[in-house]
Amino acid sequence: MKSQTPFKNYQTNLRKAGKILDLTAKEILALETPDRVIKKDLTIKTESGKSKKFTGYRVQFNNARGPYKGGIRFHPDADLDEVKALAAAMAIKCAVVNIPLGGAKGGVQFDPKSASKKDIEKITRAWTHAMAGFIGKDKDIPAPDVYTTPEIMSYVMDEFEKTVGRSEPGVVTGKPLSLGGSEGRGTATAQGGAYVLNELLSVMEIRQKKLRIAVQGFGNAGYNIARILHEAGHKIVAISDSKGGIYDATGFDPQEIFATKKEKGALPSGPELLQSGARVISNEELLVCDCDVLIPSALDNQIRADNAGAIKAKIVLELANGPTTPEADDILAKRGITLVPDVLANAGGVTVSYFEWVQNGMNFYWTEQEVLEKLKPIMQKSFTDVWMLSKTHGITLRDAAFMIGVKRIRDAMQARGRI
Ligand code: GLU
Repeated sequence: MKSQTPFKNYQTNLRKAGKILDLTAKEILALETPDRVIKKDLTIKTESGKSKKFTGYRVQFNNARGPYKGGIRFHPDADLDEVKALAAAMAIKCAVVNIPLGGAKGGVQFDPKSASKKDIEKITRAWTHAMAGFIGKDKDIPAPDVYTTPEIMSYVMDEFEKTVGRSEPGVVTGKPLSLGGSEGRGTATAQGGAYVLNELLSVMEIRQKKLRIAVQGFGNAGYNIARILHEAGHKIVAISDSKGGIYDATGFDPQEIFATKKEKGALPSGPELLQSGARVISNEELLVCDCDVLIPSALDNQIRADNAGAIKAKIVLELANGPTTPEADDILAKRGITLVPDVLANAGGVTVSYFEWVQNGMNFYWTEQEVLEKLKPIMQKSFTDVWMLSKTHGITLRDAAFMIGVKRIRDAMQARGRI
């Protein structure tokens, strides 16, 4: 059920923050208008010899604080409205963690699960070739997002460098280490989320050692947050992927589940694979399952007015972008459920992308420990700023995060004389 489009959700969040900040109508309009929307027809010759057409997007939302930054999504739902909402969220996110970058997002609307590896490479190269005049290390820097990987970022770098005729590793982040990627980038979204969750638990004075965690989504963010929190001693009671989930009150070992998924292509489901007491659940059931912390780590529009009332978790940590609608936000807030918004909770990914871009620029690379030592204080300070502001104004963490992000972008636009 799509109550509002993702971009309308962004506008609702923006206007709420704008009201508290006393923004003018002109300022609001400037913050809901993308700088540039690029739409290109991409034609590839598939492995089967047929010619196939796709639509490639890049929405460059705002660059007042620095070059445009944000991932590329390959997904059947990645239409212009969604890409625009995700681009806006990137601008807010970079401002919340105060890294000197703007916001953008790219997308190709297709199902990568039904395309061959070679065809995905061709689509990536076609997208990059079409966008080569718009991206670059000082212009706009793509990165991975849903169903795009470090391998795909290698093709972006290679195709871009071939097109422009020079080496420029900083044109894209989330690359493999062999091509100038950063240590820690692969697990950064989850690691950043874990740092934020720890801060939240400490200010909420939750000292419980074994929290029951439910994770929706088993991609890069979902798998890694489950692994990190399991290693920290918490109980991962529910896990799901796009096909469905599994629940076990005694807890799963995410690494075992990962191994099964890798081997069989699906989460364990047969009785022989499930530990005693475990059961198969749907993605809908996962959201309302018995747990302390719910971590949506897949797609947008999951927690809505029709299911927010049934959520049992006390904390929601948004590792996905846009998983909660504004109506659901209100319901959760009224029910006393603390939600850490995407623009803060999943900002570890773009923060380490920023580190990768910095390292590419100076051609000098940090160890994983150095990366983590830089990531942790950024996430902790960002959390504290958002938390304190939410307490001062008696508002949700999303509204507080938006206030911080929106104000920083507005100030940068104002300083440039754009508004
Ligand atoms: N796709 C990630 C996000 O939504 C990372 C973006 C980046 O590293 O630029 O935050």
